[in-house]
Amino acid sequence: MLVSQILKSKSDDGVVTLPPGTAISRIAEVLSARRIGAVVISPDGKKLAGIVSERDIVREVGRRGGACLTENVDTIMTAKVVSCGRGDKADDVLQKMTDGRFRHIPVVEGDELIGLISIGDVVKARLAELHMEKDALEGMIKGF
Ligand code: AMP
Repeated sequence: MLVSQILKSKSDDGVVTLPPGTAISRIAEVLSARRIGAVVISPDGKKLAGIVSERDIVREVGRRGGACLTENVDTIMTAKVVSCGRGDKADDVLQKMTDGRFRHIPVVEGDELIGLISIGDVVKARLAELHMEKDALEGMIKGF
């Protein structure tokens, strides 16, 4: 299974992005309103400047208290973003997520953001594939 197939299976393939300099409180608001776990930080919706997840916010609030919410996201985002391409295999992406201990990965083409997949998207797509394989095998066995 390829990343492109996972992107197609998602109901909403748009990526939620916010520009550098956005207040952490605004990021939390968007994560909550959109029911998502991470936001890509981008000046134009295409170029990757960083990624910030709910974990980054919880860690900072836990460490420094709610006062940090008025600060801007640049201090807590991860600037070195690991990304993948449309043609990458789902298993390789899952390996990258496991090795890097993160649950979100932007999909890029050239230098431009074209999607984002979460570990949940990969697992869901893989389960659907396993069900199809099981049904096909059962069909073959029953056919004999
Ligand atoms: P997550 O598991 O996605 O909530 O993220 C856990 C940590 O990894 C947070 O510090 C994120 O900023 C960071 N992170 C999330 N996604 C990525 C990614 N694709 N590349 C690099 N770091 C990431």
